[in-house]
Amino acid sequence: MDFNWHDIENKWKKRWRKSHIYESDPNPGKPKFFLTVAYPYPNSPQHIGHGRTYTIADVYSRYKRMCGYNVLFPMAFHYTGTPIIAMSKRLKDGDKDLIETFVNIYKIPKNYLKNFYNPVNIAKYFHNEIKLGMDAMGYGIDWRREFTTVDSQYSKFITWQFDTLHKKGLISQGSHPVGWCPNDGNPVGQHDTLGDKEPEIGEYFLIKFSFDGCKIPTATLRPETLFGVTNIWIKPDVIYLKIKLNDEIWIVSEECVHKLKHLNYDVLKIGEIKGSEIVGKYVINPITNKSAPILPADFVDPENGTGIVMSVPAHAPFDLQALEDLKNNLDSIKSYNISVDIIKQIEIITVIESPGYSQIPAQDLLLKMNITNQNDPKLEIISAKLYAHEFHSGIMKNNCGKYSKTKADSAREMIKNDLTNNGNGLVLYEIMNKPLLCRCGTKCVVKIFEKQWFLNYNLEKWKKIARLCSKNINFIPGEIKNEFDYVVEWLRQKACARKAGLGTTLPWDSDWIIEALSDSVIYMAYYLISKYVNLYTLTSDQLINSVFDYIFYGVGDISSLSKKSRIQSNILVNLRNEFLYFYPLDSRHSGRDLVPNHLSFFIFNHCAIFSEDYWPKQIVVNGSVLMNGKKMSKTYGNIIPLKSAVTEYGADPLRLTILGAAELLADADISLNLVNTFSERIERFYKNVVNLGNLKLNSDKIDLTNEDIWILNKLQNHVSAITKSLDLLRIREAINEVIYIMDQDVSWYLKRKSKNNLSANYNVLREFYETRIKLLAPFAPFICEELWEILGNKNYIALSDWPKLNNKKLNIKIDIEENLIKKIVEDCLNIIKVIKIKPSKVIFYTCAKWKLFAYFQSLKLWKKNEIKIKDIITLLMSNYVLKDMNAVSNYLKQLSIQYNTFSDQYIQSTLKIGEINEFEILRAASNFISNEINATVTIYSEDDDKKYDPKLKSNHAKPFKPAIYIE
Ligand SMILES: [Zn+2]
Repeated sequence: MDFNWHDIENKWKKRWRKSHIYESDPNPGKPKFFLTVAYPYPNSPQHIGHGRTYTIADVYSRYKRMCGYNVLFPMAFHYTGTPIIAMSKRLKDGDKDLIETFVNIYKIPKNYLKNFYNPVNIAKYFHNEIKLGMDAMGYGIDWRREFTTVDSQYSKFITWQFDTLHKKGLISQGSHPVGWCPNDGNPVGQHDTLGDKEPEIGEYFLIKFSFDGCKIPTATLRPETLFGVTNIWIKPDVIYLKIKLNDEIWIVSEECVHKLKHLNYDVLKIGEIKGSEIVGKYVINPITNKSAPILPADFVDPENGTGIVMSVPAHAPFDLQALEDLKNNLDSIKSYNISVDIIKQIEIITVIESPGYSQIPAQDLLLKMNITNQNDPKLEIISAKLYAHEFHSGIMKNNCGKYSKTKADSAREMIKNDLTNNGNGLVLYEIMNKPLLCRCGTKCVVKIFEKQWFLNYNLEKWKKIARLCSKNINFIPGEIKNEFDYVVEWLRQKACARKAGLGTTLPWDSDWIIEALSDSVIYMAYYLISKYVNLYTLTSDQLINSVFDYIFYGVGDISSLSKKSRIQSNILVNLRNEFLYFYPLDSRHSGRDLVPNHLSFFIFNHCAIFSEDYWPKQIVVNGSVLMNGKKMSKTYGNIIPLKSAVTEYGADPLRLTILGAAELLADADISLNLVNTFSERIERFYKNVVNLGNLKLNSDKIDLTNEDIWILNKLQNHVSAITKSLDLLRIREAINEVIYIMDQDVSWYLKRKSKNNLSANYNVLREFYETRIKLLAPFAPFICEELWEILGNKNYIALSDWPKLNNKKLNIKIDIEENLIKKIVEDCLNIIKVIKIKPSKVIFYTCAKWKLFAYFQSLKLWKKNEIKIKDIITLLMSNYVLKDMNAVSNYLKQLSIQYNTFSDQYIQSTLKIGEINEFEILRAASNFISNEINATVTIYSEDDDKKYDPKLKSNHAKPFKPAIYIE
C-alpha cells in the first residue's frame, strides 16, 4: 500500500482535537441531536465486532451534524460489577488460559500482569486501550464528558437514582430465586457468564415416592402425568446420597444436594447408596398408592433434578425408548436383583388424550422419527414437541381420579397444589440452560436469595407507563419493537444489588452494592452533568440529592441550594439548562443482545424517573459480527482488536467494511478481503480528485452537453437515495450507493465524454466530486477531510452542510435517453457472450410509430388489471393505416402483459416526458456503441420500407426496447 492512511489519520485527528469540533454545548438557536451507545465494559480491548455499534452511531452523528443539528455524542466507561474482580483473582491464581489470552491475544507483556492483581488496574488499562481504539477509528466524541461508573461523583448520581426509585415504591426486599455463582457468592447475570448467557431459571416439581421408610423425590416438568407412572429410572453406577431433610430421609444425587443447599434447605448427609443396589425394588406412587419398580437407565443425568426420574412411557419418548431398550436386551439386567418378568409385565398407562395422536403418543413419535435407542439426540426435540402439544390441547382420561376430564394445563396446577398441601410435592428451581458457567469457571446454581433488593419490574403500574413510553419510541429497525413488547410483559422482579463488586452502595443498606444492569439505565442524563464535574472539579460531597432534584426536576431554591452544595448559582443554572436543552435522548444505540435486559431496563427507568417530555425518542439495534462466517471468539482465535486493525488496514476502509457487510439487524459476516476492495475504491477516488485540477483550464465556458446534464441528474438521484437510506439507517444500502453506484456513473460519464472526443466538464465533475465527498464523509471521515482540503475548501467537511436535492438539476428525459444507450450496449454484449461469435455488424430497429402511439395511449387509459384493447385499436385505426393486423394483435397482446407491471410513478413520469426520438438518439450514439461492442452499427426504423431485415427481427421492436440483429 503506497497510500499513507496513517499520515492522513494523524493529521485530521490532531486538527479536530485542536478545533474542538466534536464538543457540543447548548445552543438555543440550533436544534440538538443527542445520541449515545452503551458504554463499554473495560475487561478486554474492543474488537472489530464491538466496533460495529459504535461506528454506526458515529456515522449517524456525523450525518446529523451535517444536516444542521447540534450533535452530542459522549462516551464513558462501565467499571461496575464483579467480572473484573474475578478476572483479577484468576490472574493472581495463575490461570493459564487467561494469562495466555492477555499475553498472546491482547499483547500485554507478561511481567506487566502483576499490576492487574488490583482489579481497578485492569479496568484502567482496557479503558485506555478502548479509548485509543475509538480515537483511531475517528469517532467524533465529546471527551470532556468522560467518566467511569466508580467515580465518586457518579456514585452520587446513582444514589439519587435509587433514592428516587425507592421513594416511588419501585424497590423492595424479599426472597427470590436468582442465578448464582457459589464461588463468588454473587448472583450472576448475562455479563457474568461464559458465553454471555442470561441464566434461565425453570421450575421443576418434585414428587416424593415412598421407599422403605425413605422418600425418593423425582423431578418433573409434568406432574399431571403422575397417574401414568409405570416405573422409576435410576442410574445404576451413580452413588446417591441419603440425606436428612426436615423430618424425612431422601435419596437423591450428590449434585441435587448441592442445589438444595443453595435453595436454603437444611440438609444432613447420613449415608450413601449405589443406584444398582435398589434396582428391582419398589416405590409407592403418592397419588395412586400403587407400587412401581425401580429400573436402570443410562439417560438419567444426576445433574438434572434429583438424579432419579419417574417413567411415563405413554407420554414421554425417553421413557418409552428406555423401556424398549431394556426389553430388547434382557441380558443387561442379569447383574441386578430383578426378575425379567417384572419388565415384561409392565403395562403402558395412557392418561392424556389429545387430537392427532393414538393411545400411545410417545410411540407415534418414535416410529415417525425412526428412533431406536435412548441416546438418540432427536429424543429431546420430540419430547419438547409432545409436552407442549399435550399441555395445551390434552384432556385427562377417566383413569385420573378427580382430575379426569379436566384439561391437562389445569390438571397440572391442581395436582401441584394437592401434592404440595399433603407434603408429597414441592417446587425445585433449576438452571434450564445448562451448563451455565460463571466467568470464574464455576457451575452456576439457583439460589433463593433472602432479603435481596429488587426492582419491581413486575408491577402493573410500572409496566403501564413502560408500554406507553415504548409505544412512542421509534425503533430502528421497526421489526424489533415486537421483542420489546414481549419483554415488557414478561419482565419480573430483578435483583438490583449484590454483596460484592465495584460500584455504588445501596443508599439505605450499605451491605449491598448496586449491580451493573441497574446503575446503567439513566446515565445518559449524567453526561450533561459530567461536563461540569470535570470542568469545575465538582466533588462528590457537593452533589447532594437536592442538586439532582434541581437539575432534573427544577425544584428547590437556587440560593439556598448553592449555599448547601457550595456550587455557584450560575453553575447550577447552567446544569439545569444543559439538561433542558439536550434531554430527551434522541437516539440510543446498542447490540441486539441487550434488548431483553439493558434496553428494556432503560425504558422502564426513564419513564419511572423522568416526566414524559424526557422519555427516550429512538432506539437503534444492530446484529453482531461474524468473522469469515464464525462467531468471534477466543476459541476460534479470530478476535481482532480494533486498534490493531486500524493500524493494519486504515480506519476508513475498516469502517466501510464493518458497516457495508450487512443491514442493521443482520449479523455482519466480515472478510478482511473486503477491506482491500474498499481501500482500492477510495484510493482511486482520491487520485481522480487530485487529477481534477488538470481539467480546469480548458472547460471554463463550455456549454453543458447531454452527458453533463445526465450526470448532474444522476447526482441528484444519489443525494436523494443516500439521504433516505441514512434517515432509516440502512447503512449498507447507502454505502453501496456512494461507493459502487456513484463509481459506475462517473465511469460511464467519462467514457461517453472521451468517446465523443469531449473532455469532461471541470465544473460538472467538481460538483459531482464535492457532493460525493460530502455523501461519503460520515462513513470515511479522514479521507473526506483530506479531499475536501485538496479541493481548496477551508472549513471542515465534518462541519459542512449535507447536500440538498436540487430539483432544477433533475432531467428524467436525458436519463431515459442515456439509459436507452446503456441498455442496448448491455443487451448486445450479453447476446454476443451467449452466441459466442465475433460479430461483424449489428443492426438496431427502433419500433414503428403506431406501436409508440399504442403504448402512450395505453398509459393514458391505464387502470389496474384492465387494459382497454378495444379502445386502443379504435384509436390506432383512426390515426394510422395498419397494413398487418396480425402484427398489431401480437403487439397488443404483449402490451397487455407488460401493462400490469407499470407503477403509477412510471406512468406519470413517462407521460410527462412524452415520446423520445429513439432513432435519433441511437444514431447520434452509433459511433460510441460501435466502439463498445466492437462491430459496425446500423440503425433502421421498423417503419422504413428499405431496411435491411433478413430475419424479420424488426417485428420485435418495442418502445424503449429496439430490436437487435447481429451477423
Ligand atoms: Zn464465579
